[in-house]
Amino acid sequence: MIKKIVQNKIISDISNNKVFSIVTYTVLFTVSLVMTVLNIITSKGFLTVATGVFALLCAVNVLLALKDGITTSIAKFLFAVEVLCLFTFFLVSGNPDGFSAIWICMLPSIGMTFFNRRRGTLLCIAMLFILIFFLWLPYGQTLLMYDYTSTFKMRFPVLFVAFHILAFFLETLRHNAYEETKRIQEHYKELSIRDQLTRVFNRQGMYSALEKDERYIGVKNMGVAIFDIDNFKSINDKYGHNAGDIVLVKFAEILKLNLNAIICRWGGEEFVVVFCSDTIKQSDFNNVIKSFENHEFISGENRFNVTASVGVYTESGFDISKIENLVSNADEALYHAKNTGKNKVVYYSDLNKKS
Ligand code: GH3
Ligand code: MG
Ligand code: MG
Repeated sequence: MIKKIVQNKIISDISNNKVFSIVTYTVLFTVSLVMTVLNIITSKGFLTVATGVFALLCAVNVLLALKDGITTSIAKFLFAVEVLCLFTFFLVSGNPDGFSAIWICMLPSIGMTFFNRRRGTLLCIAMLFILIFFLWLPYGQTLLMYDYTSTFKMRFPVLFVAFHILAFFLETLRHNAYEETKRIQEHYKELSIRDQLTRVFNRQGMYSALEKDERYIGVKNMGVAIFDIDNFKSINDKYGHNAGDIVLVKFAEILKLNLNAIICRWGGEEFVVVFCSDTIKQSDFNNVIKSFENHEFISGENRFNVTASVGVYTESGFDISKIENLVSNADEALYHAKNTGKNKVVYYSDLNKKS
């Protein structure tokens, strides 16, 4: 229950990131639209075109964010071009004081949320160069239509950089929160598909691995093996459950070491292995059984060895949906192994020949 609540929160946090982008651009679009209307009313000429174009591009960005999320590279490229062009337009043709100055100063912050911090900073530096170039060259030598006051020439770059530092700080907080959310999400995903004791797949993990693992897509000759540790209950009884757990972990390690396959703890002391029968041979199963038998476990003063049995079923033509049937055939072979002395590999096909 708690896990579900946490997962839901994580999912909503991640989608909030996209929502954050859409909201930012919608606000910017609205501000630009209001500026355009005001500029039309006060006959600001070229400045009207600049705010109008910017409003339009913000609307495009909202649509792109809605469609593909914030990572769309076209949207990012558009943003950088928009910002640099319109920034220059403003400086050359407008008089960015008061609200306009603040509005321009907000651009790097928006760039920061849209790009990563490094690119956002590069954009800010490029803008700072343009700003200093146009503001500080003597009036008449550049394309400037206004002769800015010397206070403004000082105040504007300082304000601009201050906004960027603030944006950088806020973006760092947001980025860290996002990374943490992503890490927790990965952690819960891993928890949901792995057996916590042995770290091999649990049943759910095995099914999703079978669907996703490229090694098994289109493979025809597949097999299922079911391993069961012999007399495991008596190990628990004699040496305690901790010793039993150590045996389980060691057995999973030996499986991983010897078999290039999907390994799953089916339950208790049973492990199911789904493999491609073109690459895994009977000798590999024998090796697992032998390595396990040869491993000496130590529990206090006691030293002991453990054995395992395995039933194997192979089939040409493989259908994941029939996995339960395949396991049940392998289980029949395992049952035979248990009834004929344990510590051995039994193939389902050999079983049928005999009967
Ligand atoms: P067989 O040789 O016929 O396989 O007999 P067995 O004793 O190995 O099998 P049985 O099914 O009778 O006992 C399995 C035991 O495994 C019972 C259960 O308490 C124990 N078990 C299941 N899960 C765990 C676990 O995570 N840790 C430990 N230590 N024991 C476990
Ligand atoms: Mg068992
Ligand atoms: Mg057993």
